[in-house]
Amino acid sequence: MKILVIGGAGYVGSHTVRKLIACGHDVVVYDNLSRGHAQCVPTGCLVVGELNDRAHLQQVMQQHGIEAVMHFAAFALVGESVAHPAMYYQNNVVAALELLEAMRASGVWRIVFSSTTATYGQPEKIPIAESTVQLPINPYGFTKLVFEHALTDYAAAYGFGTAALRYFNAAGASPEGGIGEDHDPESHLIPIVLQVALGQRAKVGVFGKDYPTPDGTCIRDYIHVDDLADAHLRALGQLEPSMNLQLNLGTGKGHSVLEVIEACREVTGHEIPAVYEARRPGDPAELVADSSLAQHVLGWKPHYVSIKSIVETAWKWHQSHPRGYATNNSSATKT
Ligand code: UDP
Repeated sequence: MKILVIGGAGYVGSHTVRKLIACGHDVVVYDNLSRGHAQCVPTGCLVVGELNDRAHLQQVMQQHGIEAVMHFAAFALVGESVAHPAMYYQNNVVAALELLEAMRASGVWRIVFSSTTATYGQPEKIPIAESTVQLPINPYGFTKLVFEHALTDYAAAYGFGTAALRYFNAAGASPEGGIGEDHDPESHLIPIVLQVALGQRAKVGVFGKDYPTPDGTCIRDYIHVDDLADAHLRALGQLEPSMNLQLNLGTGKGHSVLEVIEACREVTGHEIPAVYEARRPGDPAELVADSSLAQHVLGWKPHYVSIKSIVETAWKWHQSHPRGYATNNSSATKT
């Protein structure tokens, strides 16, 4: 199939692009490179463009005979969304609607969308099933929820075949090497902890110690990025006109911040100093997936089930690319 991957130069997008190509699909990556990296896009696949540029998107879809879209191009940081909601609504909602209109004008009806556990807010019942009421507690979650609703309505009215994949915490890197997680500035837990192990940071701050969890720190369900990529391919293969899927993707196992740091100590053999800091605004205490629906509908199962196995792949990436995609990888001096 000819697939347009919006945001294919980002973390989950780039891993999915690799898998799509390995499975014989024809891929065009569309990315503005504001947060993505041209280095992780296979040669000849990249079109640089803006998500809010409907005419350009339409031209690309028509020129390449695009049959399906995967949409990864969203801002995805909880804390940033609290500080800059306008940016989040503009990109994740307003610009993303231009994508849907470009699809409609081009007769492209299949779309797989990166949604998120943040659409649930802080549900009372853990693990979280798709039937759980969606009450986001930060602007990031709201923007993703609005787009999920747009997909539902486009499926009903215009016959779009849609899948919103609600990721829990994407982590790890492809063991084949060469691609991994690289945000600037980095804000995610596992890369930060591994940067401490590499000597690039002195310590990791633990955001909050008084959450209602056994050790007082937030619990998350970390899911390997290649397992997410696999689910995208399976979802794409299932799409039919007017279909409207929402599926959770996680391992079903929760790990506290302290447990993640401990797993990183075991994998790396480094001490990794940690200090308690204030809670980060917008963080729910506990998010763990019930992914049984995805397993049933997609025939999908996470390959990486232990946090250590996920951290091992991330550690391999960070060791071989201490400066991420930056060209000079010989020194480990990023602070
Ligand atoms: N976290 C932390 N210190 C950090 C970064 C993250 O304690 O330097 C915590 C954060 O508060 C959350 C968990 O680690 O409870 C995972 O955060 P991350 O930013 O990796 O992903 P998110 O859950 O926001 O998608």
